[in-house]
Formats: sequence, structure tokens, C-alpha cells
Amino acid sequence: MKNQHAFATQAVHAGEAPCPVTGALDTPIYQSTTFVSVNSDEMAAVYGEEKFGFMYTRYGNPTLRALEEKLAVLEGGEAALVAASGMAAISTAILGFVGEGDHVVAARSLYGAAYNFLNKKLPRMGASTTFVDSTRPEDFEKAIRKNTRLIYFETPSNPVLQILDIAGLAEVGRSNKIPTVIDNTFASPALQQPLAMGVTVAVHSATKYLCGHGDAMGGAIVGTKDYIQGLCHEVLRDFGGVMSPFNAWLILRGTHTLHLRMPAHCANAQKVAEFLARHPKVERVNYPGLPQHPGHDIAKKQMTGFGAMMSFEVKGGYEGGKKVMDRVNLFARAASLGDTRSLIVHSASTSHRAVPREQRLAIGVTDGLVRLSVGVEAAEDLVSDLEQALDF
Ligand SMILES: *Cc1c(COP(=O)(O)O)cnc(C)c1O
Repeated sequence: MKNQHAFATQAVHAGEAPCPVTGALDTPIYQSTTFVSVNSDEMAAVYGEEKFGFMYTRYGNPTLRALEEKLAVLEGGEAALVAASGMAAISTAILGFVGEGDHVVAARSLYGAAYNFLNKKLPRMGASTTFVDSTRPEDFEKAIRKNTRLIYFETPSNPVLQILDIAGLAEVGRSNKIPTVIDNTFASPALQQPLAMGVTVAVHSATKYLCGHGDAMGGAIVGTKDYIQGLCHEVLRDFGGVMSPFNAWLILRGTHTLHLRMPAHCANAQKVAEFLARHPKVERVNYPGLPQHPGHDIAKKQMTGFGAMMSFEVKGGYEGGKKVMDRVNLFARAASLGDTRSLIVHSASTSHRAVPREQRLAIGVTDGLVRLSVGVEAAEDLVSDLEQALDF
């Protein structure tokens, strides 16, 4: 699909075409592990990539390929690779740049498992990471060493909604000849296009907004053709975290409505955030759509909507946060995000319970912090649910 089409048209059509044999309009689920060749020469040509074709689903599959082509177009990259989960995509993307003796500069405010991968797993492979607490691109630049091979960050970040300057970080990477990788999960390509701002690679937990309905795990990596081919041949095949064709089909179906769901999520989130910001029991709201958010101006510059993730600090600390989570009726007490349904977690007692308190406070996960993933229900119902939950 050519890039002259608008995002909405690409979300519906890119990467997919009716089957030339059967006429099936929707992309079939190619639930087959292996693919036949007519003779040894043809199989050799497919293995050698001189001929288009498939061999074995861990190496590639037509349903996965359709999703990869769609996501490459939506993110504005040359190529994409899908993986079994967001973490399979993140670890694969990082290992495509980093090996023994190498160094990574990363934001401290990251999805927990991505932080653990950089902090605990990379050292086992002889690589190390310096975490940057500041949001200033200059401070990322100061952390660069001779052996730095990657700058890794996410914006908006989980769960405190820190906003980083994408163009600023891309420029730090470019001027130091170091690739940059962004986790674009919270925004999705419908709200934020980091590759157009100079970032080298975008990664996703497709489990979230790309799928959008909370029914399939998946991950994606978007970058140059050479890089993606290298990941496919040298990393993902050997580590094995391949997406299932059924999940690829569910996520493909989700992407068809991404451009419709995201504005609805954003409009609801803005109303919920404004309600919370006015509430006497709420100390602070972390939502980039509020003018008092420290990253509001940068978010306004680099996003076409502020997303639907937010967190807020309830007065009454740990017990106050737990109370709100226990008292909601419509919000589901559940991890994950990007679902049509609204979800709530009290971070300190659940997702971050294993993180020592000092460390937890250092990343902004205070005792009373409650995270919301705002869904696409009616905003007034979400607001009244929170209103009665805060009435304790
Ligand atoms: C959920 C999430 C991940 C991990 O994705 P999985 O699909 O659960 O492996 C990574 N980054 C962010 C920002 C996420 O929200």
C-alpha cells in the first residue's frame, strides 16, 4: 500500500489483499507449521530468498507477514517483524544491536520487564546499561561511552507517564552515530510517529492498543529492511519467540479500528483526568493532556492525542490507593492496558509489590499511586464510577 493514503485507509488496507486463488477478502489464518515446495531446487531458492515463499512458521508465515506489512506502513518504517509478545519483541530488538562488551543508555522510567531485561539479563551476556533519571536529552548524551551501542526509551512511560523529547533523543543518537529504540506502546502509531522524528526503531507490545481488545499477546519491531532481516535471521529464529498465526489474525483485526479507537480512548481519558485533577481526595494526576503535566508542551508537539493511560496519587497513601481499587464497579481490577474496557491497578500493592520501596519511590511509584487504562465506554459512566470509589 502506497504512503499517499491517509492513516485510516492504511489501517484498514495496508498489508492485506484478497486471496488471488479463493477470493477470500479477509486475510486467512494460515494455521500451518510448514509449507511445501515442488522440488529441491524450489525449496533451495526459497531458503536462499531468491524466490518468494514460506518454509516453516518460525521463519515466517503469510498471516504474520500481512501483519508485519501493515505495521511497517502504519509506523512509517521499511519493514517489521512480529513476535510472541511485547517482551519477545523488545529483547529481540535490543539483541539486534547489543552483544558482549557493549553498553546501553536507557531511560529509568520503563516498563518493568524491559527494565529487568536491561538491568539483569544483559549483564549475563557481558553487556551493561546506564539508566538516566532526567528527561533532558543532554543527560542521555552525557551517559554515552565509547562502547555505547544503543539508546533505549519509552514515552509516555509506564506507569508515571513521563514524557521524553523524541526528536531531541533521536538527534543525540544521530550525532553520536548510536541507534535509538523507542517503545511506542502507550501512544500507538495512531498518536505518535517516532520514525518520522528520526528514531531508528519502534517496538510495541501489540497485546495493547494494536490488538485493542485484550484477547491476544503479541509484539512488533519496525525499522530498516536490513535491520529487520538481520533480526529475523540471527535473533528471532534462534530465540524462538514467534507469534502464533491466530494471534496475528486477531491483532490484524484490531488494527482495522485503531484510528477509530484511539481518539475515543483519548477523549474519555481527558475527561477522567480533568475530573480527577479537581477531586479533593486526589493529590496529583499524571496525564500528559493536563496543562500542569511537566511534559505537556513536548507531548503536544510530538503526539496527535495524549493517549488513555494515566496514574494518580490518592490521599491516604497505600491504604487509600487500595481502597479506590477495591471500590470501583465498572473499572476492572486488572493488569494490562489498551483494552476497550477500562482497567485499574494500585501499583504499590500489585505490579510493583516486589520492587523495594526506595527503588519504587525513585521511579515515581508512590504508595497511593493508582494506574488507569481508560477504555471506550461512556465517559460519564467512568467518571461516576471513580466518583463513588473516591467517596470513602
Ligand atoms: C505490556 C508492555 C510491554 C510488554 O509487552 P507484553 O506483550 O506483555 O510482553 C512492554 N512495554 C510496554 C510499554 C507495555 O505496556
